[in-house]
Amino acid sequence: MTMNYTEHFETRLRDIKEEGRYRIFATLERIVGRFPQAIYHAPDGSKKEVTIWCSNDYLGMGQHPKVLAAAHEALENSGAGAGGTRNISGTTRYHVELEESLADLHQKESALVFSSGYVANEGALSTLGKLLPDCMILSDSLNHASMIHGIKDSKQEKLIYRHNDVEHLEDLLKSIDPKRPKIIAFESVYSMEGDIAPIKEICDLAEKYNALTYLDEVHGVGLYGPRGGGVAEECDQLDRVDMIEGTFGKAYGCMGGFITGKAALVDAVRSFAASFIFTTSLPPSVLASARASVEHLKVSDVERQKMRNNVKQFKSRLTGSGLPFMQGESHIVPLVVGEPNCCKEVSDILMRDYDIYVQPINYPTVPKGTERLRLTASAAHSIDDVNHMADVLQDLWESHHALRAAA
Ligand SMILES: *Cc1c(COP(=O)(O)O)cnc(C)c1O
Repeated sequence: MTMNYTEHFETRLRDIKEEGRYRIFATLERIVGRFPQAIYHAPDGSKKEVTIWCSNDYLGMGQHPKVLAAAHEALENSGAGAGGTRNISGTTRYHVELEESLADLHQKESALVFSSGYVANEGALSTLGKLLPDCMILSDSLNHASMIHGIKDSKQEKLIYRHNDVEHLEDLLKSIDPKRPKIIAFESVYSMEGDIAPIKEICDLAEKYNALTYLDEVHGVGLYGPRGGGVAEECDQLDRVDMIEGTFGKAYGCMGGFITGKAALVDAVRSFAASFIFTTSLPPSVLASARASVEHLKVSDVERQKMRNNVKQFKSRLTGSGLPFMQGESHIVPLVVGEPNCCKEVSDILMRDYDIYVQPINYPTVPKGTERLRLTASAAHSIDDVNHMADVLQDLWESHHALRAAA
C-alpha cells in the first residue's frame, strides 16, 4: 500500500488532541502603554480586552519609551535589515555596540549576539563540546530544550545530574577520568519551576574537578543583580562562570540571544558555530532597542523593585488561600494542575469568565503529569491586578473541581 501522507499527519495530530496537549495559540494585540492589558482576538472573530498573566516581558520593557525610541532611530538611520551574515556585510555598529554593552554587563572580555537565546545555547554548547576532545558534558535534568539540543549536536558523551542536586553532580564528576575535559551546563532561574540553582556550590565543584561552567541566565538577566547581570551577579559569582548565556526576549522585552565569556571562548564560538555563521544577522532596530533596554536596566532599579513587590504580594496572597504553587525563590509562580485537560479547562475559564489570559503549559515543555499554569506578576501589573488575580484563583480553587481534583 502506498503511504497517504495527509492521513498520516492527521492521525499524529489526532493523537496529541486526544492527549489534551494540542496547542492552541491565543492571538493577542499588545498596545503600547497598556501592557499587561492586550486585545484578544478569539477564534470566532470577536475581540475583547484581557490581562496577560503569562508573559516573559517581566519588566514591561517591550513598551519602554527609551527602547522604542532607540528602535525608531536605528530604523530611520540604517533601514530595515542588516543586509548579510555577520561575516559578509552584516556586522553593523549596532552589533558592536551591543556586544560591548554585554561584555560590560557581565564583566567579561567578550560577548557575541545570536538570533535568539535558543540559537545561542544550541550554537555555543555544540561548539564548545565539539572543540574539546573527548569532552564529557554534565547537564541538569531540567535544562531547557535549546541546551539539550546543543549538547546532542556536540556529539559528545553526557551525564545528567538530578535537578539542582550538587551531591549527585559531585558523584558524577568523581566518576570521570580527571584528564577528560568537562562542561557543567545549567540554568540560574528554572523557568517552569521558578527555583534557582546553587551557582556558588556548582562553581566550587567546577573548580575542584577542573570543569568549564556554562550558565543559562535567560530568566535572570535584567531581573537580578544590581545592574541586571543576572543571578550570578546577585550572588557575586560572575567571574567564576566561564560562559553566560542570555536573551533579549524576556526581561529586556525585545528579541535575540547572546553569550559572554573569555575572549578565546567567545571567539571560538564565533569562528565555529554554524548557527551563528550561516544566518543573516539581526536588524539594527532590534539591536538598538536591546542595547537601550540593557543599558537602562544597568542603572534603573525601579522596574525590578516593582516586580519584586508584585511577586511578593502575589505569593503571600496565594499562600493565604492555600493554593499549592511551587515554592521557588524566583519571580515565577507555577501552579501545578497535573493533568492536561484540567489545566486547559482552568485556563479557558480564566479567559472566558474573567478576561485573564494564562496559557496552559503542557508536555513536552514540562513532563507529563505536571501540567501547570505558569503565572508571572510583572512590573507592569498594578497591585489591583495582583489582588484581583489572587481573588480569582481563590474563587476558582474553592468552587471548581479542576484545580482541586489534581491536588
Ligand atoms: C526561552 C528560553 C531560552 C530561549 O531563549 P529565546 O531568546 O526565547 O530563544 C533559552 N533558555 C531558557 C531557559 C529559556 O526559557
